[in-house]
Amino acid sequence: MNAPVSFEALDAWLDANADALDVDQSRAPEILPQLVRSGAAAVGVPEALGGTGGTIADAIDTIAAVAQRSLTAAFVLWGHRTFIEYVLQSDNEALRARWLPPLLAGEIAGATGLSNAMKYLSDIEPLQMHAARKGNAFMLNGSLPWITNLRREGFIAAAAFDHNDGSPPSIFAIWHNVPGVERSDDLDLTGLRASNTAALRLTDTVLDDTYRLAANAPAWLARVRPAFLGLQCGMSIGLAQRALLATLDASKASRESIRAEIHELEAKLAEQTAQLKRGVLDDTFFNTPATMFELRIALVDTVTHAVSLEVQATGGRGYLRGQSGVARRVREASFIPIVTPSLVQLKTQLAQHRRIAAA
Ligand SMILES: Cc1cc2nc3c(=O)[nH]c(=O)nc-3n(C[C@H](O)[C@H](O)[C@H](O)COP(=O)(O)OP(=O)(O)OC[C@H]3O[C@@H](n4cnc5c(N)ncnc54)[C@H](O)[C@@H]3O)c2cc1C
Repeated sequence: MNAPVSFEALDAWLDANADALDVDQSRAPEILPQLVRSGAAAVGVPEALGGTGGTIADAIDTIAAVAQRSLTAAFVLWGHRTFIEYVLQSDNEALRARWLPPLLAGEIAGATGLSNAMKYLSDIEPLQMHAARKGNAFMLNGSLPWITNLRREGFIAAAAFDHNDGSPPSIFAIWHNVPGVERSDDLDLTGLRASNTAALRLTDTVLDDTYRLAANAPAWLARVRPAFLGLQCGMSIGLAQRALLATLDASKASRESIRAEIHELEAKLAEQTAQLKRGVLDDTFFNTPATMFELRIALVDTVTHAVSLEVQATGGRGYLRGQSGVARRVREASFIPIVTPSLVQLKTQLAQHRRIAAA
């Protein structure tokens, strides 16, 4: 019987520490153990594989619940849970058997360095990591500027590599403990500072096939993208839910004039949340990625609008330190459009689809 999911203690810890997690890098070691202890990282993982069961939609709800309290913790959970999803969806059974148990136990942090791969698939930039055959293994070189959840205590990170022998790009899981793997100091972020976000450099790192998540990156990425994006949208949903809930803390008078707007946005958010979970579960987003891109763009608008309503309802109190979470949420909301696939990228892709369809 797997450990039950219990968010009460996690919620209390997040409420007490959300501001510190946003501004203080030294709090980074605490987040993953808190998430794992609550069972949050095991949601949507089959019980037979050591999880607590449920579906990817339950995992999205879990990220949303954490994002209601702290986007830093939600982003860490996103990185960790998304890496777990890669392991679940990999054809590499040896890799799954070796890494799933320590990931679920929080003994190692999962990280996803696939922004570069997603941008590569959209023709925005070349792959920045390179693999060359070396006997039965591969020699890996390159660097990635941004990866979250690179825990100093131990991490394993997914990254895409091109190959010099004409074979398609593939995805490797990079273990921190292998020669040639170097994590930079934490990046000097304006927020989300306890997220263990750093750059990763590989110099002549040798890994064999037991570390390969996928031999054909484009095909595999298309398969995991709905889960990747769905879990990511969980952050938008949680943040918007919390901003709307926070309007209830405002005085009746200040809330009254924007009440209709709040109710309208609540209904829209509920519909978007349902659409997201449906689309991930019934393969709509796999079959028609454009519908998922449109929803991600719409959710960014919802977050922006929700936080704006919270600012309006809270008034001057929101500008006083320690009186509300408004200022932090405004900063958290500004991260949502830039995380890959970014809004600019998605709008460009949709415009391309439309041009091709029109031609
Ligand atoms: C706190 C933080 C944590 C992060 N964690 C991770 C992580 O864990 N894993 C990870 O892989 N990445 C991570 N990233 C990177 C993130 O997902 C984005 O890739 C990054 O912020 C955008 O890259 P850039 O600013 O270098 O974009 P730039 O390349 O400078 O581009 C600026 C914007 O324009 C868009 N753009 C650029 N060229 C084109 C084009 N030709 N067509 C259409 N759109 C274009 C980009 O998508 C971006 O929105 C993180 C970033 C931050 C800020």
